[in-house]
This record gives sequence, structure tokens and C-alpha cells, in this order.
Amino acid sequence: MIEREQLEMDVVFVGAGPANLAAALHLKNEIKRHDDLVEKGAGKSRKIGNLEIAVIEKGSFVGAHILSGAVMDPIAIRELMPDFLAQGCPVDSVVTEDAAWYLTEKRRFNAPIVPPPLKNKGKYILSLSKMCEWLAEKCEEAGINIFPEFPASEMLYDANDAVIGVRTGDKGIGKDGKHKPNFEPGVDLLAKVTVLGEGSRGSLAKQLTARLGLDDDKEPQVFSIGVKELWEVHGGNFPEGKVVHTLGFPSDTRTYGGGWIYGLKNNVISIGYVTGLDYEDPMIDPHAEFQKFKTHPKIAAILKGGKMIKYGAKSINAGGYYTMPKLYADGVLLVGDCASFLNGQRIKGIHTAIKSGMLAAETILGAFEHEDFSSKTLRYFDEKVNLSWIYDELYRVRNFHGSFQKGRWSGLINSGLQHLTGGMAWGFISKEDHVAGYERMQKLSSKSDGFSRSAQETPKGDTPADGRYAKLAFDKQLTFDKITDVFHAGVAHDEDQPSHLHVLDTEICATRCAEEYANPCQRFCPAAVYEMEFDSKTERNELKVNFSNCVHCKTCDIADPYQIINWVTPEGGGGPNYKGM
Ligand SMILES: Cc1cc2nc3c(=O)[nH]c(=O)nc-3n(C[C@H](O)[C@H](O)[C@H](O)COP(=O)(O)OP(=O)(O)OC[C@H]3O[C@@H](n4cnc5c(N)ncnc54)[C@H](O)[C@@H]3O)c2cc1C
Repeated sequence: MIEREQLEMDVVFVGAGPANLAAALHLKNEIKRHDDLVEKGAGKSRKIGNLEIAVIEKGSFVGAHILSGAVMDPIAIRELMPDFLAQGCPVDSVVTEDAAWYLTEKRRFNAPIVPPPLKNKGKYILSLSKMCEWLAEKCEEAGINIFPEFPASEMLYDANDAVIGVRTGDKGIGKDGKHKPNFEPGVDLLAKVTVLGEGSRGSLAKQLTARLGLDDDKEPQVFSIGVKELWEVHGGNFPEGKVVHTLGFPSDTRTYGGGWIYGLKNNVISIGYVTGLDYEDPMIDPHAEFQKFKTHPKIAAILKGGKMIKYGAKSINAGGYYTMPKLYADGVLLVGDCASFLNGQRIKGIHTAIKSGMLAAETILGAFEHEDFSSKTLRYFDEKVNLSWIYDELYRVRNFHGSFQKGRWSGLINSGLQHLTGGMAWGFISKEDHVAGYERMQKLSSKSDGFSRSAQETPKGDTPADGRYAKLAFDKQLTFDKITDVFHAGVAHDEDQPSHLHVLDTEICATRCAEEYANPCQRFCPAAVYEMEFDSKTERNELKVNFSNCVHCKTCDIADPYQIINWVTPEGGGGPNYKGM
């Protein structure tokens, strides 16, 4: 039995993303406002005083694991901090020009009218990683404790299943499971309210949801993966302030996908590609889709003579309003992406994350006022969300992702009609279409698909030998293999620790999965973590997990068709380094 230190806090925020940093800061501000009113005798109940607030983050610094596009709608940051620009919010550029391109293999069609959801003029292009670093500084100035290198590995409950805090991960356990000389047990952070803001596919949110049934009666969540590179391009190839969104090449019409290019200062661009993790063809490789995207003549021309400077990948929860879990339970609230606050149509979640955090803060203030941290008080979070602009925005696009489940064309027609009719579904979507993304992956033997092929033809590891990527060669100038890209993600994990990717039954990998899907983990992982390697003892291919490459995108936990991969937090500080991404 390990003896663990217990630290008593008032509120613990798990994850230092925009949702929780905004929540913590707003909570401090609201307490001050409340206490000032009480002091002035403005009829408020009683002073709250100084609360112990902690934000814990698994990355080695705040921002280390933050990856986004990013064009930010400033609506929420303005509410949080009206003078955010004067206070030094590190926005890079203001959007001056929008474009929507439809790409065929060789050609580009520039939409004469940019669809309203993709209009970004006047919004801000920024590095979300930098913005979170800045927000964390603001939190510290306000007296909030920020603890990087502190992964929360477990929820803590009382005998009635009320959340009473989180346990942080142990340090110094060797890969053989034995304690190393630097062993340090994780601590139990006890809190009256715990707020989960872990981002897409939060590992604790997953535990909590399963235990308390927070997604009962909700539609299954669907995810996408965004694969991104930062490039320094040749002067004049892409102007600062320009925002391009693309549809078409290289996705097939049955696969949800699209690209983006955002022009930052000093000839730097953010370029990336989103692939829906509800694809049918098990041969799809989202990293290869992105590399192929860059070979389009119009995209390659922008990148010609330029240099890739950084890489990253992260999942995105795309399901929207109908997939939102219950947002509260006794002692706990869920905010931001881990509670599905992202607007999938606009691919924007920063503003909704910030606003959800602020509403959570106001709910927490109410809980301290009434000294009641049960669902009875915390349920007001749900009400606040539904009375805010978040509801108006997300409810309008509630059927957006669902309408692409039958392919691109029905998705486009349906979302056009939805735009005109306040989001109504238009007969293209049936109840059966609402399944978790991984359930849509087709087996190779499937007769009905257009992509059947034998497992022998499949690409091994990172070699794009398959028909889909036959013309793709990683030339290391325009296109990069996964290992080269992972190097540019600055990933580091201590190799002498147990793998944080728990594959619950590797026998399935070597047998059923090899036959039925040709081990799609080798392809859907954007960081070459999973490899099937011939083992002379068993005389078959066995799964090898290169966990130290992991960029924490959670795609494996999401997309595995057997749902036998469980992503848990590794030792604190391990993972990518997305500084400036
Ligand atoms: C490729 C891509 C492009 C995007 N483009 C845009 C865009 O242009 N505009 C826009 O508005 N939105 C965009 N989004 C969405 C936007 O980034 C998210 O909606 C937003 O970051 C969500 O904020 P969050 O605070 O909920 O989570 P996150 O930003 O994901 O932050 C979560 C934090 O919690 C930490 N964490 C997770 N689990 C634990 C744990 N157990 N213990 C400790 N720490 C933990 C993580 O390391 C991370 O730092 C994009 C997303 C992606 C992936």
C-alpha cells in the first residue's frame, strides 16, 4: 500500500487549456466582485474569501500539449477580459481575407461566396499554445496555483460516488513496473469541486462518464483528427491574415475531411488537414491524407522553397450538441472539448471552451455561496449553458456532422438547408447513422465497400505502398514520413516507464484485427506508435507499441474498431512540445 500525501484544495481544474484557464481566472474575478458587493452591503449573502484553486497540467509547461489551428472568435475572451489586447494576449494577426477552395486532384475552384460559417474577417489568428501560456501567467498573477507536469490519473470518489478530487500520476516507475530510486507517489488532490477540462477524449472524463453514465441517452460522440504543420514559406507565397479552408482532394466523397491554411506574421503559415474518425476505409491514414493534400499543385506551389518548422496532431470532438454528456455530477463539472462544446461546422472550439469555463466558474461561485457542492447546485451549469449564446450557436448546427455520414454531397446539401432552417435535419440522416465513428470502419472482406483489398497489399508501418497513397513519396521537402514529423513535434517520454497505451488484448491484434482490418492502428496513429512486427517465436506479426512517439492525440483510443486501446496519462511532463503551435 503506497502512502500518499493529501492536498486539500477548494477547486481543482484538470487540464490547462483555454476552458479551464478561463474558468479559474473568471472564478477569481467573480469571487472578488461578489465579495466587494458584500462589503458594500449590496444584499449578497456572505463573503467567499480566498479559495485555494489549482490548475494541473500533464505537459511539461502550460501550452506544451496545446494544438489548434487557430483562428479565434474573440467573443468569449472579450467577455473574460474586455481589454485582452491591451493586457498582452498574444494574437498573431487579424484575418483580412477569407477563401473557400474546392480541390480536385489537379484543379482548384475558388468559391465565389465564402459560406457564412467559414467567414473569419476580423477574427484573430494565433498560436493557442502561446495564448494558454499567457492565460496561465494571468492566472498566477491572480493567485491561482498552476502545476505543470501533474497528470491526473484517477478520479477520487466518496462512498456515494460523489467526486472528491483526483489522484496524480506516480513518478519513477520502471517499465518492469518496479519503483526506481526516484520513485515519487502521486498525490491525492482533494477538492470541493473538480473541473475536467482535458480536451478531446479526456482520459478522466472517459472514466467518469462510464462510471456515472453521463452519456446515457446521448448520441455517441464522433471525432476527427487534425494533422498540422507550421511552415516558413517563401516571401509572398501566402499573405499574413489570409484564411483558406478547403474541401475535396484528397478525401474521397465518403470520408469527412478538409484542409486549412492560415497566414501568420513573418511568412509563417499554419497548414493542416482534418479527417473524420468515422471513415469507412480501414486503409485510410490521416497523416498520409495530409501529406497528399500538400502535393496538390496549388498547395505545393505555396510551400515551394519553404521549410517545415513544427508538426503536431490532435483529435477533435466533432459530434456537437446531441453528443454532449451530462455536464455535472456531485462534486464535478465538465467544460470545453471534453464535454463536446466545439462547433464542428466552424471547427471552432476556443471561444466555446472559454465561455463554458466562465459559466462553470459562475456555477462554482454559487456552490460556495450555498456551501453545497452536490448536483443540486452544480446542475445550474447546464441551465447557464442553455441560456447562453453557446446553446444558440451549437443548437443551430446540431445535425451538422450527422449529415455527412452519408457522404460529402448529402452533407453539403443538408448543411445548406440546415443553415436556412435553424439546423433542422432534412431526411438525409437516419437514426442508424448515429453510431460511434469506429463502428463505421468496414472490414476488408466487406462485399459492399468500394475499397476491398487483401491484407497482403496493405502498407507496412509508414510506407505508403497502398493504392490510396501509391503516388505519395516522402521526399522530406514537401512531404514527410511520420518519424520525421514526430521529431518536429518535440516528443519526449522517459522510455523506462510502463507504456501508457494499454492494449487490452494483443491476441486480437495478431489474429482478428490483422485479418479483418489489416491493423489500422498502424495507419490511424499519426506518430508511428503502432507497428506489426514479425516474431520468430510465434511465427506471426505481433504488435509493437512505440509509446515514446505518442503525441497525445488520443486517436488510438477513439478509432480502434475493437475498442481495446486505452490511453492513460504517462509520467508527468512526457509528450509533445507544441510551444508556439
Ligand atoms: C487541429 C485542430 C485545429 C483547430 N482549429 C481551431 C480553430 O482554428 N479555432 C478554434 O476556435 N478552435 C480550433 N480547434 C479546437 C480548439 O483547439 C479546442 O476546441 C480547444 O482547444 C478546447 O479547449 P479545452 O480547454 O477544452 O482543451 P485543450 O485545448 O485540449 O486543453 C486541454 C489541456 O488539458 C491537458 N490534460 C488533458 N488530460 C489531462 C490530465 N488527465 N491531467 C492533466 N492535464 C490534462 C492537456 O495536456 C491540455 O493541455 C482546433 C482543434 C484542433 C485539434
